[in-house]
Amino acid sequence: MTTAPDRLRSRPEASSILPPPPPGVVPYIAGYSREQIITPRLTHGPGPAVGFVDETPHDRDSFGVPWVRPSLLPKARRGEPRFKEVHPFRQRRAMLDQLCQVCARPAVSDLDAPRLYVMHGIGRPVEEGELTASPPVCLPCAAIAVQVCPYLRRHHVAAWVRSTPAWGVIGHVHDPQTLRAFAQDQQVEYGSPAAAWVVAARLVSMLYEVTPMDLEAEFARLGRDRLEEEFSRVAELMAAA
Ligand SMILES: [Zn+2]
Repeated sequence: MTTAPDRLRSRPEASSILPPPPPGVVPYIAGYSREQIITPRLTHGPGPAVGFVDETPHDRDSFGVPWVRPSLLPKARRGEPRFKEVHPFRQRRAMLDQLCQVCARPAVSDLDAPRLYVMHGIGRPVEEGELTASPPVCLPCAAIAVQVCPYLRRHHVAAWVRSTPAWGVIGHVHDPQTLRAFAQDQQVEYGSPAAAWVVAARLVSMLYEVTPMDLEAEFARLGRDRLEEEFSRVAELMAAA
């Protein structure tokens, strides 16, 4: 049983200290209406595993798992943002390169420094070994994300995290005989039997050296004026991207 204080468990609506989010901010990892996610025609192999008929060396990650092929369009041609969708390539890049999932800047300037992870309410503080497909976020963007992200708006928890090894993927798992997708959006661990039959759409990391933190207290410490300044900087950055 956890003895963590209530303030670290889960938070209701973002506190009134927050300035309104800058208009038009679309998180880096969000999907857009004209971006298609294509799963190529499937085949068996190499070996006892799912593969693509027209597979290229770029289709598999370093653990040998094949990934869906998302279209990559210049920002002006992506269409309307889809805040509930996550773009597989941008999610993976943000996870691997430790980029802020909103502004795409490095989440911290020093790679040894702890990164901030914010998750939708899990009813308890973030724990050692927690799994997440949500990339890190910089502190100003956390104050934006808890206002614009449909998953974070109602409840969220946050932690500083030092170590985030890749754990596996989220994707559709296919029947080894028929190759029919029989389980959608499954969390699959690298090296597990299901990893041979999954086509990945998101990377999942495990969080270690976790220090739960009170996001609202941190926002209050920064203060509304400073947050407003940071919001303008983020908006400028995103307009220039
Ligand atoms: Zn950011």
